[in-house]
Amino acid sequence: MTVDALVPLTCGWLTLPTAFFIVGEPDELTVPVPAYLIDHPNGRVLFDAGLGPRFRRPTGTPVEGWVDLESDACVDERLRALGVDPTSIRYLVNSHLHSDHAGGNTFVPDATVVVQRAEWDFAHVSDDFAYHTPEFDTGQDVMLVEGHFDLFGDGSVRLIPTPGHTPGHQSALVRTPTGDVVLTGDACNLKQSMDEMRLPDHAHDDALYRQSLQTLRSLRDQGASVFYGHDPVFWATLNPSSEAG
Ligand SMILES: [Zn+2]
Repeated sequence: MTVDALVPLTCGWLTLPTAFFIVGEPDELTVPVPAYLIDHPNGRVLFDAGLGPRFRRPTGTPVEGWVDLESDACVDERLRALGVDPTSIRYLVNSHLHSDHAGGNTFVPDATVVVQRAEWDFAHVSDDFAYHTPEFDTGQDVMLVEGHFDLFGDGSVRLIPTPGHTPGHQSALVRTPTGDVVLTGDACNLKQSMDEMRLPDHAHDDALYRQSLQTLRSLRDQGASVFYGHDPVFWATLNPSSEAG
């Protein structure tokens, strides 16, 4: 069984030290904040939800600071632009609960949130500023999974635990009409991360991070296409509907 479609959405941009993505690298990098719409015969899935309303600024106004989120880049607007009603999303899969992945959870109010139990538990007690509870815990039903999980039971959307960036990070292996696609989330920031097995400067657990990166790399070795988590060069090849402001 394959999904009907996998559509990349650009839900803002971040400008951060390059070392944030690959330890030891100089300078800064402006990176996309991805989300993905997955159409499946038994319901729509959103993989990650982008940045939340607190970062939103009117479209066309200047970028201030390290976050660039125009109103029309919020995930609800991105969905509407595709003719998709945000309330029609059945599952919201969060790779993890950092603000640039779960900040937009409020925009899909009728979805069941699918997240690893280890991530949900950690995010509620962590003092890491990257977690912002009112943004990711927005009242929807929550399905807490532990380890591998086949979302529709047909092999088309398989969740793969990839801890390291955070304790309960997960990636997804999506069977599309044109082949298998791995949505890495922050388990692999850039293509260079995987090519050179290079870690970011801030992993929760370096050993687990390396192991997860290796898991994802073997999927690539087996022929899957990898959609890297925050790679501006790769992102441009997908040709999604946005450029950095
Ligand atoms: Zn993160």
